[in-house]
Amino acid sequence: MSFTYEEMLEKNRRYLWNPFTQMKEYLADHPPIIERADGVKLFDVEGRSYYDGNASVWLNPHGHNRRELNQAITEQLEKVAHSTLLGSANVPALLLAERLVQITPEGLEKVFYSDSGATAVEVAIKMAYLYWKHRGQPQRNQFISMTNAYHGDTVGAVSIGGIDLFHSAFDRMLFPTEKVPYPYSYRYLGSEEDCRSACLQELEQCLAEKGETIAAVVVEPLVQGAAGLIMMPPGYLKEVEKLCRKYQTLLIADEVATGFGRTGKMFACEHEDVKPDLLCLGKKLTGGYLPVAATLATDEIYSAFYDDHETAKTFFHGHSYTGNQLGCAVALASLDLYEKENRVDHVRKMTPHVADLLQSTAKLTHVGEVRQCGLMIGIELVQDKTKKSLYPYKAAIGAKVCKRARELGMITRPLGHVITFLPPLVATREELTEMVHILHQAIQEVTQS
Ligand SMILES: *Cc1c(COP(=O)(O)O)cnc(C)c1O
Repeated sequence: MSFTYEEMLEKNRRYLWNPFTQMKEYLADHPPIIERADGVKLFDVEGRSYYDGNASVWLNPHGHNRRELNQAITEQLEKVAHSTLLGSANVPALLLAERLVQITPEGLEKVFYSDSGATAVEVAIKMAYLYWKHRGQPQRNQFISMTNAYHGDTVGAVSIGGIDLFHSAFDRMLFPTEKVPYPYSYRYLGSEEDCRSACLQELEQCLAEKGETIAAVVVEPLVQGAAGLIMMPPGYLKEVEKLCRKYQTLLIADEVATGFGRTGKMFACEHEDVKPDLLCLGKKLTGGYLPVAATLATDEIYSAFYDDHETAKTFFHGHSYTGNQLGCAVALASLDLYEKENRVDHVRKMTPHVADLLQSTAKLTHVGEVRQCGLMIGIELVQDKTKKSLYPYKAAIGAKVCKRARELGMITRPLGHVITFLPPLVATREELTEMVHILHQAIQEVTQS
């Protein structure tokens, strides 16, 4: 069966409600309707092609329609698509758990599956909460998280999140948390070093005052993603870990965005030799194919739940599709590709190339800051460079730049006034060059600089 673009858009209008989308705006915008993809390109039903400039919202590491990944799914499909992990196990879920324990930072020994980044975070905060309860310290039931943090969209994940726009939308539904400032050096009145020490001081003060009630500190290691790709000053993450140890609370690392090579190491925590107590993984875990996420825990946490039936210390949490075989099988094949194609090395090699290309973008009149960590890039647009003044919300400057980039052949998304660029990790030097040129041109034209 084949449909025209107009017929498909009409179905979108009638039946589909898109996420994070003002439907009124979207439906008027001639949105692309994707039909197929190959490598780093997406093709729409009208025959246009686009670079996948944000890896389909930060997912895709190896490119689309990879034979090895497709094959892993069809081979598993011939055996079984899904059976439950409640009271049984399955082969790919076991093999993947073993692989994840091997490749993640030392000390993380147990894997709990779920199906999205948000649920991986929900699992981590529930584990931390119950860990202290089972250890006889139920007063440790609060969380410290960072301003502008993003941990997903379920109610618990939004509660520990810090993006005001989302928070204020759901205010009364959320549980209270302690917020400490995230070191956003560009918007700090002072040096990066001052910013770093001021933020650490606030974290320490919060722990000194309330440490006895804190179950865990939750961070996005190295890069705050949805906040606008904001990089931690070097050494910051290590200091956060030290403070968690000093005040004997847990450290939860949300590597849903940074995990699996995005920053130039397999996990961002490795840059500073940080060993979290709980680690949340999602997004690239399945090669960008299927919704499997994981929360890794230390044996110390696992053993707090390990007891006789009558103690009721069971971890009462699970999802229908937990440990899905197709998802775990493709995740295993994805990890094979990381090894076979030295994916993370490639990211390290491409990082300076992209940095060079972006130098002229950074000089544009309305580019306030270009931030990069591996292949995780944010370009912050400003109305006035010296004053660092923001464009008004209604100018929708980010959306306009991304729209122009799309016309020029690349899809990516804005985060307010920050343009995101997170290409598939597999992108070649030439592909990255073309993508950055599109971004540069779109910014130049839209901001008239
Ligand atoms: C995307 C993201 C999440 C949420 O993942 P979903 O799969 O969209 O639920 C959580 N944390 C971080 C840091 C993310 O970037």
